[in-house]
Amino acid sequence: MLPNLNIDDLPLPTTLAVPLAADAQLQVQRGETLPAGAVLATGSHSADCIAPRAGTVSDFRRQPLANGNDALCVILQDLDDTPTPLLLPPLSATTLPQLLKRAGIVGLGGGAFPAWRKWRQQLRYFIANGLETETAAYNDAALIAAAGDNLIARVRTVAQTFAATPLLALPEGVTRVPRANDDPMLRYLPAHYSLGNERILVQHLCQLDIPAMAVAADYGVVCFNIATVLAMAAAIDERMPLSDRVITVHDVDGGIHLLRVPLGTLLAEVRHYLKQNATALIGGADEQQIAGDDAVITAATTVIHWQADAPPRAAQACIRCGACEPVCPAALAPQELYWLAQDSRLPEMQAQRLTACLECRRCDEVCPSNIGLTALFIQHKKQLAANAAEAQLIHRRQQRFDHHEQRLAQPVARFSAQALKQRVAAMTKQVSKKQ
Ligand code: SF4
Ligand code: SF4
Repeated sequence: MLPNLNIDDLPLPTTLAVPLAADAQLQVQRGETLPAGAVLATGSHSADCIAPRAGTVSDFRRQPLANGNDALCVILQDLDDTPTPLLLPPLSATTLPQLLKRAGIVGLGGGAFPAWRKWRQQLRYFIANGLETETAAYNDAALIAAAGDNLIARVRTVAQTFAATPLLALPEGVTRVPRANDDPMLRYLPAHYSLGNERILVQHLCQLDIPAMAVAADYGVVCFNIATVLAMAAAIDERMPLSDRVITVHDVDGGIHLLRVPLGTLLAEVRHYLKQNATALIGGADEQQIAGDDAVITAATTVIHWQADAPPRAAQACIRCGACEPVCPAALAPQELYWLAQDSRLPEMQAQRLTACLECRRCDEVCPSNIGLTALFIQHKKQLAANAAEAQLIHRRQQRFDHHEQRLAQPVARFSAQALKQRVAAMTKQVSKKQ
């Protein structure tokens, strides 16, 4: 059962702390007054860091982020709510990455990956993922409801600019799009796919196997969370930068609120608005972080839980109750995987189909020991992928070496294999003498 999906706007905060990407170079000075959308910092790999509201740069300082890290932030005060469209060149296939970078568009599903870096010249599919990426999040459902009849057109606009066929993934039986249920781009999936990773979604929708560690865009598919797609549509159609995000807030009494907040809002502002006097936990069910009032809400912040002042329940030993097995949609044995993970027995975990784990967290929801099974599985899946990538690298190096040896062993027109080896050795010696 969905909660009330109306999105409320947080009143204009008094201060915003806008975090800078690691590669970003500052473009502003203390005391400068800026319009909304002004570039605060830019880097060669990140999206531009922009001012979410008009205001004055009052300081630069390190600030804790809601995800538990910290970053150098531009502090903006004397804020003004007037939106300012960006001045950009006309949109074309080649200016799209520039526009997305300048509009500060990053993934809003929790990853905050710069959208412009997914662009490729030849794409086949553009997937808009309308399935929630965190347990207890309703952000995507709320945005889909708010977009209403415009949703399909917006997804299509963005897919067209990427020159790819649009596919819109929605959770079965949860979200329906008014008057569009026979649109060919719609794909209804079991809701647990929401928490599966991009590779699983691509496999399911496009029947394409993306190797571990590879990027779907290199195989002709781009996949964006629906909030990111709508942000891109606003940048393309209205030249509006990414300045806000919608978050799901669970209050201490069990109420659920959908709030639109400017990026860079401090947690204290949300606490004050919802009159919460409790501990704030950020994130989905199994990867929650306690955050203080000075923590900054970023593009990667999806869910906040306010909990009566009690520390999160500590993990306890597995009691072999078996509750985790029947709920697993991938027919895995989470308990077995858990015991194998205790000794990092990766080959056996692989044999138990660890890589088929959808990261849906259903096992976590029923585990009375609060073990955090999914986080454990994600960690070991990453390790498996890293091992596979390393094995591939070693294989490629071996192939290059074998090829090299074979070439040297082949007699060429003027030299025997032996003479060729001697000649290569002599030339190498000459070169190193010169150096
Ligand atoms: S093991 Fe847990 S997280 Fe993985 S698919 Fe099964 S229930 Fe979901
Ligand atoms: S639900 Fe938790 S405690 Fe029960 S068997 Fe699974 S891992 Fe062990």
